[in-house]
Amino acid sequence: MALWIKNPLAVLAENAAGGVVVDNGKITELVPMGGVPEGNDIAVFDASRHVVIPGLINTHHHFFQTLTRAHPAAINKELFPWLQALYPIWAKNVKPDAFRLATRLALTELMMSGCTCASDHQYLYPDGLEEAMDIQVEEAEKLGIRMTLTRGSMNLSVKDGGLPPDSVVQDEDAILSDCERVIGRYHDMSDGAQFRVALAPCAPFTVSRRLMTESAALAEKHDCRLHTHLAETLDEDAYCVANYGMRPVDYLEDVGWLNHRVWLAHGIHFNDEEVQRLGRHKVGVCHCPTSNMTLASGQCRTKELEAAGSPVGLGVDGSASNDNSNLMESIRHALMINRLTYDAASVTHQDCFRWATEGSAKCLGRDDIGRIDVGMQADLAFYTLDELRFSGVGDPLAGLVLCGAHSADRVMIGGRWTVEDAMPVSMDIGRLRHEHGAAAKAFLEAL
Ligand SMILES: [Zn+2]
Repeated sequence: MALWIKNPLAVLAENAAGGVVVDNGKITELVPMGGVPEGNDIAVFDASRHVVIPGLINTHHHFFQTLTRAHPAAINKELFPWLQALYPIWAKNVKPDAFRLATRLALTELMMSGCTCASDHQYLYPDGLEEAMDIQVEEAEKLGIRMTLTRGSMNLSVKDGGLPPDSVVQDEDAILSDCERVIGRYHDMSDGAQFRVALAPCAPFTVSRRLMTESAALAEKHDCRLHTHLAETLDEDAYCVANYGMRPVDYLEDVGWLNHRVWLAHGIHFNDEEVQRLGRHKVGVCHCPTSNMTLASGQCRTKELEAAGSPVGLGVDGSASNDNSNLMESIRHALMINRLTYDAASVTHQDCFRWATEGSAKCLGRDDIGRIDVGMQADLAFYTLDELRFSGVGDPLAGLVLCGAHSADRVMIGGRWTVEDAMPVSMDIGRLRHEHGAAAKAFLEAL
């Protein structure tokens, strides 16, 4: 039966002040102010307490890092020393059971913040974790959340001039054959798909040139997206110049990655010409404001990138460099850091919502999510303004960002309620907190 989400307090959509009608997993009608839906047999959900926005889309994360949040070995460091402190701890302890709990926790946390589709850049494959993507599918299915399964990889360890230790890298053939396996099993290009696959060599300092070119060829063959970290730090610039004789964007072009399939995590240290080149080739950029501030990495040139033609999405990143998985909080952080980069008038809450919804959907290559409109998937996040932090609020949509909304009261994905009364419908939060917390203890004992 169709459902009329009736008379929301506010809604992030044009001509939908009277609400939206959802049927068979999709949005079928926008109801103007004072209007009523066209059909007869329609159930009603009274949304008069709710601010309704498109489900948020997270385009960069590392779920396993939830096990090393605020880790004493890594706090107060910038990226390279931060990674070098954590690699051996991850290598020893990220086993399938812990990885499953980390995935469950990150997905649950994201969804409770209003996220309805997530990608997880899973690049760590110590022995025994070969089925990481399969574990993520099982966990996402339990929650009902969409995922771009981002099959990451590292094959350049210290002995070959890379940054990570030997114990967390795989050889190139093992990586490429698992990429094909994961694509064959889970990559679904149909409208409303729960899972798609992206290939994601980790970063210039952890991956060989050949793995970059082979991954691009596989993505072309199977019509899937490509993802990597790029231009996150000045250390990375120096690494690329020293090891490849060129800057990161030139390297990207050299390995065949300047195209619309690609979205990059961070994208901070681009010069003017590089911004134009990326835009011309429609390369997407996932802006990770919280992580960039935590690691003091720098400020993404979001406005110039968008103006040049690049889709800009949003990601929580981390979780050890965030150290949470709250995408709504990252929208607030995006507003703040971008106002420091630009000014208050040219960066609005609407810009930040756009990055976390439409922009992220474009980064993932999806045109069926990210907006509230007829024909789009019914992926929606609902927030109340009942907490003390909202008391006195004028503009409800601006208030979500400026007053600091954290938790969705309700979440709908493909027309199904996955969060009700601020709790996931299919997850015991108390038990999850206990089990994940217990698993994370091993990562501290490794010190
Ligand atoms: Zn990252």
